[in-house]
Amino acid sequence: MLVIVSFFIIHWYTSVFAQSFFLHRYMAHRMFTMNPFWERFFYFFTFLAQGSSFLHPKSYAQLHIEHHNHSDTEKDPHSPHFWKDVISMMVNTGRVYMDFKTGKRESTSPHIKRMPTWDLIDGLGNSHSVRLAFCAAYVGIYWIFAPNAWFFLLLPAHFLMGPLHGAFVNWCGHKYGYRNYETADHSKNTFIWDILFVGETFQNNHHKYPRKLNFATRWYELDLGYPAIWALAKARIIRPI
Ligand SMILES: [Zn+2]
Ligand SMILES: [Zn+2]
Repeated sequence: MLVIVSFFIIHWYTSVFAQSFFLHRYMAHRMFTMNPFWERFFYFFTFLAQGSSFLHPKSYAQLHIEHHNHSDTEKDPHSPHFWKDVISMMVNTGRVYMDFKTGKRESTSPHIKRMPTWDLIDGLGNSHSVRLAFCAAYVGIYWIFAPNAWFFLLLPAHFLMGPLHGAFVNWCGHKYGYRNYETADHSKNTFIWDILFVGETFQNNHHKYPRKLNFATRWYELDLGYPAIWALAKARIIRPI
């Protein structure tokens, strides 16, 4: 039981941190810089953490910039105000993501030229056999350590960890919560302390200040990702811009 709970928590937080720190704050928004060694380190970390649901970093970043440019309009890849449920919204998100990945769509991101790619990891992360191998490893861990079969119901969350986090943030962050700022979209801050999504649900704060490293802006708000990023900056692993 302890192994399964620990594994779930570790997979949840490494995956959501990889998405928030590397894909979102670094790749899409360039909130900080890092040297080529650390860039590769966190690229690989993202591959390991997201595992079976690895998101190609450059395609994720291009998709995300579209969201900022067209937030809560018809051109937004994932506005909850244009889709009747979260699944159809995420299907459309996947479609736009694939258009960027296959080169069908041109990016409007100002950082596109500085977005790194890594052919080896992109190839591995996107290969069906590697995704299946990750799934098999998750099943193996549950097979050995789960105290009963009910725990197997958690496995789909492991298979789809990256899109699962994205679905929650995209849907709830533009639908439920409070607003600190008047913005042209419907962005909201879902929680006062964002413990589960390491700051990603402070959508209203983030749309107001898209390149602010700390997603919390009020004294009582907590972006759990920020202390970790602050520590990385103190250790000179990253340099905030
Ligand atoms: Zn948003
Ligand atoms: Zn953003």
